[in-house]
Amino acid sequence: QAKALGKGRFIFFDDSMRQQLMANLNLEHELRKALREEQFVLHFQKITDLHSEKIEQGETLGFETLLRWQHPQRGLLSPGDFLEVAEESGLIIDIECWVLATVAKQLQSWDQQGDYPNTFVSVNLSPRQLQQKNQVNQLIGIIHKHFLQPERLILEFNERAFVQSPEQSLQALKMLKSAGVKLALDDYGYGLSSLNYLSNYPFAFIKLHQSFVKSLKNNERNLTLARSLHELGDSFGFRLVAEGVETQAQLELVKQAGCDYAQGYFISRPQAADLSEDVDDNGDDDVIDCA
Ligand code: C2E
Ligand code: MG
Ligand code: MG
Ligand code: MG
Repeated sequence: QAKALGKGRFIFFDDSMRQQLMANLNLEHELRKALREEQFVLHFQKITDLHSEKIEQGETLGFETLLRWQHPQRGLLSPGDFLEVAEESGLIIDIECWVLATVAKQLQSWDQQGDYPNTFVSVNLSPRQLQQKNQVNQLIGIIHKHFLQPERLILEFNERAFVQSPEQSLQALKMLKSAGVKLALDDYGYGLSSLNYLSNYPFAFIKLHQSFVKSLKNNERNLTLARSLHELGDSFGFRLVAEGVETQAQLELVKQAGCDYAQGYFISRPQAADLSEDVDDNGDDDVIDCA
């Protein structure tokens, strides 16, 4: 915000700004330590295929990976508690490298145990990952290093990742698609929700934000909008995913709205997967090299 005031102006730091700054610096310091000491944890939330017959025990399309931080004093933290500082400091790049490597191990472990055959794993990525071409190449390198089957990986971005430099981010998405991964537009129906991304960006999935899903109950026009999006998806080649489904009624509505997949507390809460059952236990491939 200080930047927005422009150069050559006096900027007054009051006590609360100073406190905020100190708190952020401290958080950044703690995040660095968290990376070194592996305090991060992944939770997974099931994504269900709405076309299967019994939704409650429906086919699993896959799992969305949600980052958690097991903070030594403050307990289990959610991205809302630290993501901003992680992004501003650039630490998010290393954190997401850890996320990808850990997800790859989880997928391997599920495969070895015969659990969830052929499911996808969906990972949220920061806008930073798309900002520079060499950053994208580094990301692709990490993916190819860790994932035997990149086509089972979905990368989620929300519009924040594209607004600043639409051309560069489109190039980046095309590079990622060529590298074999699938792409998802997260939180659609919240904020700008530009149509341009639907028609010109190579998304395999459009995820409807939970506020839009909630609105379906008493907003007939949004229901119509969702159905039209589904039809657009048929021509443009994307599938619709409903986020934040919390009730049976919402589940019925998102089906009526033409959503192909759904996730939410009603279907399954995000939870830790048990990596402790890791089959390969010689320890040496546990080292994650993210430099
Ligand atoms: P998102 O990707 O849109 O994820 C959905 C959020 O809604 C998650 O919050 C999830 O726990 C929550 N949720 C799931 N089902 C329900 C439901 O039925 N009702 C309600 N009210 N909420 C539900 P969470 O885990 O706090 O994550 C918040 C956001 O943080 C995510 O939103 C995603 O944008 C971001 N995020 C998570 N992990 C990462 C990561 O590794 N990297 C980056 N850059 N962002 C991440
Ligand atoms: Mg997401
Ligand atoms: Mg979302
Ligand atoms: Mg269809």
